[in-house]
Amino acid sequence: MAGSKMMQFVSVPQNLPHKRSVDERVQDFGEIYDRFRDERAQEQASRCEQCGIPFCQVHCPVQNNIPDWLRMTAEGRIEEAYELSIATNNLPEICGRICPQDRLCEGNCVIEKGFNSVTIGTVERYINDTAFEKGWVKPNRPLQERKQSVAVIGAGPAGIAVADQLRKQGWQVHVYDRYDRVGGLLIYGIPGFKLEKDVVVRRWKLLEEGGIHFHLGVDIGAPGHPTFSDLRARHDAVFIGTGVYKARALQAPGVGLPGVVPALSYLTASNRISLGDEVAEFADGRLDAKGRHVVVVGGGDTAMDCVRTAIRQGALSVKCLYRRDKDNMPGSMREVKHAEEEGVEFAWLSAPEAFVGEDRVEAVRAVRMRLGAPDSTGRQSPEIVPGSSFTLKADLVIAALGFDPEDHLAMFGEPELKVSRWGTISIDWSTMQTNLPGVFAGGDIVRGASLVVWGIRDGRDAAASMHNYLLARAAEDAALAAAA
Ligand code: FAD
Ligand code: SF4
Ligand code: SF4
Repeated sequence: MAGSKMMQFVSVPQNLPHKRSVDERVQDFGEIYDRFRDERAQEQASRCEQCGIPFCQVHCPVQNNIPDWLRMTAEGRIEEAYELSIATNNLPEICGRICPQDRLCEGNCVIEKGFNSVTIGTVERYINDTAFEKGWVKPNRPLQERKQSVAVIGAGPAGIAVADQLRKQGWQVHVYDRYDRVGGLLIYGIPGFKLEKDVVVRRWKLLEEGGIHFHLGVDIGAPGHPTFSDLRARHDAVFIGTGVYKARALQAPGVGLPGVVPALSYLTASNRISLGDEVAEFADGRLDAKGRHVVVVGGGDTAMDCVRTAIRQGALSVKCLYRRDKDNMPGSMREVKHAEEEGVEFAWLSAPEAFVGEDRVEAVRAVRMRLGAPDSTGRQSPEIVPGSSFTLKADLVIAALGFDPEDHLAMFGEPELKVSRWGTISIDWSTMQTNLPGVFAGGDIVRGASLVVWGIRDGRDAAASMHNYLLARAAEDAALAAAA
């Protein structure tokens, strides 16, 4: 088993890679952690106890074989560690960077009390970045080409995983996306300080080299673009991985004033600038926080990405209004800590009452909240504290209240497609198939706003099921041809 290299947690303290100083990192959109040096990665991997029942793996949505790749890393067998890592995860270099590890693998690491968990995410990133550097990462070229084809709608993590898995099996894979780049929220939602854009582009190019056809700028269901039924007629199976993009609206007087903007428009503009695009709304200042007093409304990861982006754009002040307290916020504590370090001020237990201004927003009138009785989910509902109004100066307000699915009927024109009461697509979880034969779905459009790693898991599960479906169809075609 482990050998003497492992179980070093008693003598080796937890260490993360070097974190750039606040002064330095707020000057650019680069990631804030450097990569592990080889010896440091080996040392950190050697802290693992090699548990018989590894709870880290149980709580990793793609069930990564964590103890084995930690052992190989500790032993300096990085290429083998890479082979194991890529066997269960289509985007390990990305998950290692942006999974909320404190809630998943690392949060369930059982290293004895008093010692901190193994730094699983950073080791995963190290293994895979090393693999790219050393040239071990090759496109997945199938051994056998099959003639049946699949359409994947959406090139986010769910669509990428399903496409990659099916391509390995030799199916012809066509991915359609309304964006001009591959990655979904990886490219236009998540900022570069969490995930540098060249990491996403590098993976996109590899998928293309493996023979996946990307049809970009194709908005399925929009006027002048192919419809959902066109794709069903053109391909042998379809996967829907369109994510959730309808921003939840702020509801307060003055919300329509110029200067009150939705989070995703703001983040997309910033990401496009990082990618070298020209963005009119950024150039004319509508989506640029430079020299402004910024108020972000919301307490999730999207809100944290907005406040930290505003700091980097040179805002005069950045405040985050959240109606519950810090313990009850949905975002990752790690991200809140980074935001606090970078100078973001949090107004906990506060909600906007009105947006004030003449020609554009000039201030937010807010009100204090307190946590009242628990609702049906057991979560305490926020209540307004009477007479507690206060005003915050604001010339850019960013609404980051979360996302819901778009109108599926408008998008797919298919009244038979079964959806839940929240507008997410309903599937049979044992097959990932919708109620329409040959139509599968996964990622945020099924789960509601979720995580990259869950999108990958869904894509992998759907691909396994679609492979069997396509084999059955191929057998039927062969039988028909033989009978003809
Ligand atoms: P998406 O990534 O949304 O991809 C869907 C794709 O479908 C898009 O490319 C879209 O253009 C395309 N599409 C939609 N409709 C059509 C159509 N009609 N025709 C053609 N194409 C279409 N998760 C984490 O794990 N860690 C994080 O740190 C994190 N940070 C986040 C930060 C922000 C700001 C946001 C918004 C989300 C974050 N998430 C994070 C969540 C994560 O990004 C999503 O859960 C994940 O991207 C969902 O993957 P998906 O493939 O289902 O959808
Ligand atoms: Fe942890 Fe995410 Fe990697 Fe799984 S994929 S080991 S949850 S960082
Ligand atoms: Fe190693 Fe922690 Fe996983 Fe146990 S739970 S195998 S100690 S990483």
